[in-house]
Amino acid sequence: MPVSEFDLIRQYFAHATASRDDVLIGIGDDCALLQPAAGEALAVSIDTLVEGRHFAVDADPAALGHKALAVNLSDLAAMGASPAWATLALTLPAADTLWIEAFMRGFSTLAGVHRVQLVGGDTTRGPRTITVQVHGFVAAAEALRRDAGRPGDRLLVSGSLGDAALALRLEAQGRPVDTALRERLDRPQPRIALGRLLAGRARAAIDVSDGLTADLRHICEASGVGALLDLARLPLSTPVAAVAAKGDWAAALAGGDDYELLFSVDPAKVGELCSACIAAGHAVTEIGRLVDTPGIRLIYPDGRLSEDIPDGFDHFRS
Ligand code: ADP
Ligand code: MG
Repeated sequence: MPVSEFDLIRQYFAHATASRDDVLIGIGDDCALLQPAAGEALAVSIDTLVEGRHFAVDADPAALGHKALAVNLSDLAAMGASPAWATLALTLPAADTLWIEAFMRGFSTLAGVHRVQLVGGDTTRGPRTITVQVHGFVAAAEALRRDAGRPGDRLLVSGSLGDAALALRLEAQGRPVDTALRERLDRPQPRIALGRLLAGRARAAIDVSDGLTADLRHICEASGVGALLDLARLPLSTPVAAVAAKGDWAAALAGGDDYELLFSVDPAKVGELCSACIAAGHAVTEIGRLVDTPGIRLIYPDGRLSEDIPDGFDHFRS
């Protein structure tokens, strides 16, 4: 039985997430009507995932629902913002209700964790493409910007680096991928609570979506500084540390999809901030510092200094 667009919206989108007080009108009218928090700036971000480019034809739809929202929430985290609303544009080859149901399960579960309400969207037919836009709030003066780094700042990163990239590489090689690595690739956890803690306390911040050095370069260029990275200090899981120990630093330095936060902190405040992170249960590691001299320099564990940076994500993938 063919399913109408109207039925799809009513059944799968209209009540997919919990309702928030700041949503005056959600799904169902020509626009959503939203009440932004008084005195805070609205933080907005959008990301598109295209079948064949960002995910495979046979990708698990529940994991995709999670990831499509997670990558957007990660941008809010990197700004220090609190998530509030999302819109979802879905282009699908057919009204495959099993696929939509599973996709929305992944999406809604993560939305519930971060109190995000789906307030609107669009549903069209065509090659499978998923676009999510998120909206959140942050006091403008506390927002974590890419251009706020200063020479002397300590560089810190949350969680561990390179797990998603290593999972992708093992998969491409047809080798087994252990569950923990696979989870890091399929279900990245946006570091919202850490971003909130850092707002107004850290200087520059970015989420690591394209790889550590590529994203660090964005901070350096925006802030007009360079960076020294101490590779011996990088937080690496056992499998990523094992490949790094063989001299292969690509996963750790250039692997994408980690969705950890990379941030810079005034050296006088780093001790206090680290204590606050530990008290709140956030794993953060100091991995280097910002310097006057432009460019990124790597200090290898054997003391060797290099400006030779493994290429980004695309190169790593090929
Ligand atoms: P319009 O033609 O006015 O753009 P639509 O028929 O596209 O309206 O959508 C009707 C309602 O359903 C709107 O509130 C829209 O935001 C919502 N909607 C449509 N598709 C989605 C979706 N994939 N996710 C969430 N809301 C959706
Ligand atoms: Mg529409």
